[in-house]
Amino acid sequence: MARIYLDHAATTPVDPRVVKAMIPYLTGNFGNPSSIYQEGRAAKKAVEESREKVAEILGAADAREIIFTGSGSEANNLAIAEVAWAYRKRGNHIITSAIEHHAVLETCKALEKHGFTVTYLPVDEYGLVAPEAVREAITDRTILVSLMYANNEVGTIQPIVEISKTLQEKRVLFHTDAVQTVGSIPLHLKELGVDLLSLSAHKFYGPKGTGALYVKKGTRLHRLIHGGAQERRLRAGTENVAGIVGMAKALELAVAGLEETVPRLVELRDYFISQLVSRIDHVKLNGHPTRRLPGNINVSFEFVEGESILLNLDRKGVAASSGSACTSGSLDPSHVLLAMGLSHETAHGSLRLTLGKENTKEQLDYVLGILEETITRLREISPLYLGQTAERRI
Ligand SMILES: *Cc1c(COP(=O)(O)O)cnc(C)c1O
Repeated sequence: MARIYLDHAATTPVDPRVVKAMIPYLTGNFGNPSSIYQEGRAAKKAVEESREKVAEILGAADAREIIFTGSGSEANNLAIAEVAWAYRKRGNHIITSAIEHHAVLETCKALEKHGFTVTYLPVDEYGLVAPEAVREAITDRTILVSLMYANNEVGTIQPIVEISKTLQEKRVLFHTDAVQTVGSIPLHLKELGVDLLSLSAHKFYGPKGTGALYVKKGTRLHRLIHGGAQERRLRAGTENVAGIVGMAKALELAVAGLEETVPRLVELRDYFISQLVSRIDHVKLNGHPTRRLPGNINVSFEFVEGESILLNLDRKGVAASSGSACTSGSLDPSHVLLAMGLSHETAHGSLRLTLGKENTKEQLDYVLGILEETITRLREISPLYLGQTAERRI
């Protein structure tokens, strides 16, 4: 049987139509966009047309508000660190949450070493940040709020519009890491009310190593990479022309397909969760039951290790992720699950399956069977589980 890929929050396969759009810029049209002769002008045109396409699809007012970067992580670094330095005279306080991606959390930690103070807002049991808590955390030293749109581990979708409304009269900038959101659910910048928004192509069937940051007109940033004048002097370096063309194409395809994929993935997701809960005992759904990304399934199985489940799934041809694998190589339980109040044991027994457009119900039925068998077998050798069932028998 062919492999079953259920880790779309980690990365997605590149859509063949995206590859096709990129090939000319990896072959014949190899010019440098900064060159003024014909080859250069053709490359420049491809970059600028892609910028316009991305701006239009996201709902930006102007194509110049889109800055291409080398990844979603880089977009987050640019948004947080370079805004922080540009507004340093106004204040030194940043607000974020405890469940952000490491590209946000580590950038904030680095800034703390340079005199900035950071508030890491807590989340509730579903992974939601309270809009009032954001408002209450603001001081006259606050310059930036950075909150992710949807969480990469548990799929919880934050009330970004509500939060941006509570920030309206405040003199603070609002950044959202929308890397999991763009291409997964409908999104329009005019309705969001954010000043900065990060995206990454490889999360929506585009190439790896290509991201972008939306920067609302009038927002100041310091330079991230010194050198040439590319990307409004914020990020020097010859543009990744093929990657940029690929990102624009991938975004166009992903957004055009949302009407079909969102309801289909929601149905598959909810089918899988309900089957799992009815077929296996001591299972807990992590994240919000409805305010979650269409393809996100995150569950904890009591008395077993997520890593053991993963390895068993891999052997049976299924690619998935666990709560502890996110900080790759480390076996620390996920900071997201801990912030939601899960115990270390429950966090260790977590499994994340993230569906994509190519997954089918047949694949999910196969995975359900494997999981039922695997969990039963792992629990048979788990002293914790055996103790628990013995206790129940008394
Ligand atoms: C994947 C991801 C990133 C990082 O994007 P890269 O392009 O892989 O650097 C940042 N934030 C979230 C929420 C992500 O899921």
